[in-house]
Amino acid sequence: MSDLVPVIRSDAHLAHTGLIELASGVEIPCWESPERVLAIEAALLEDGSFAFDDPTEHGRAPILAVHDAEMVEVFEHAWTDALAAGATDGSRAWLPDTFLLAAYRGPMPPSELPAGRHHRLGGYLFDTATPIVVGTWTAALAAVDVALTAAERVLGGASLAYGLCRPPGHHAARGMLGGYCYFNNAAIVAEWLRREGGARRVAILDIDYHHGNGTQQIFWERGDVLYLSLHADPARAYPYFSGYAGEQGAGDGAQLTRNWPLPARTGLDAYAVALAEALRMIVAFAPDAPLVISAGFDTFKRDPIGDLSLRTPDYRDIGRMIGGLGLPMIVLQEGGYAIHALGANAVALLSGLRGT
Ligand SMILES: [Zn+2]
Repeated sequence: MSDLVPVIRSDAHLAHTGLIELASGVEIPCWESPERVLAIEAALLEDGSFAFDDPTEHGRAPILAVHDAEMVEVFEHAWTDALAAGATDGSRAWLPDTFLLAAYRGPMPPSELPAGRHHRLGGYLFDTATPIVVGTWTAALAAVDVALTAAERVLGGASLAYGLCRPPGHHAARGMLGGYCYFNNAAIVAEWLRREGGARRVAILDIDYHHGNGTQQIFWERGDVLYLSLHADPARAYPYFSGYAGEQGAGDGAQLTRNWPLPARTGLDAYAVALAEALRMIVAFAPDAPLVISAGFDTFKRDPIGDLSLRTPDYRDIGRMIGGLGLPMIVLQEGGYAIHALGANAVALLSGLRGT
């Protein structure tokens, strides 16, 4: 077998572009851009330790095993409905005008819904960072296929595979889109490992800068999926409403969610202490499936939207620690916005994971 690490990637994300977001009320170009993936691909290619491949199609069943069918349908048709209604001329990203919070209805029973699914999208979005353009649906489908194809490579014998997903996934919950995320790639892989991969216990380790609220929500009451996340303390950082240390799962999933909210400027020493705790929990849980890693590089010292202090060589150390578990690993790309350093950071993490 080749020593090259399989990297699954697709060009479908290139059409998920021209995105804007509102950051603290100001319209800016979306940090989550196609250049992120292009930068990582270029660095992996130059390194020479990686073998690129396209994903295979897996259809909708793995998505519908995790996400609400109505949300999927609304997302699929939001752009074309907006075009058909003349709500957009297609030149700009679409965001709905209203967001349906639980407080909107209060004691009122559910009512009729607007005909246009672009308006209904407001019932499934939680922020203004998740716009839709003509290529968004196709890109999101492809990202799921990228993740599942990476998972298949590992089940097929690779000790490590990297799914270069874009858009990312960990903020997408069962019936909710947000935070640049449409489908929760990591959660879909974890559920797929349970249903199709013969696994009984799956562990997800999330090392993105942000709390993976979607992944946590999806597996909150599940006794078969461990969710561990190291991230910026939500007391100061997006997504603000989850990711606190007291959130530990419920029901069958009690104690199977664990969060490590980190202070600003956390460097490798303190990060490694939290990571070691997480790794001990994985050992105790004894997963019988590949470890699913939600990998974000917005923990980088110079990331434009983060405030932690990890440096490029630190990702190799982090990779070595995780690789020391001896588990096969499915690495899925989440965030990271310091485009000039993304490639080096990805190479460092993957090199550490494979023990080099
Ligand atoms: Zn992030």
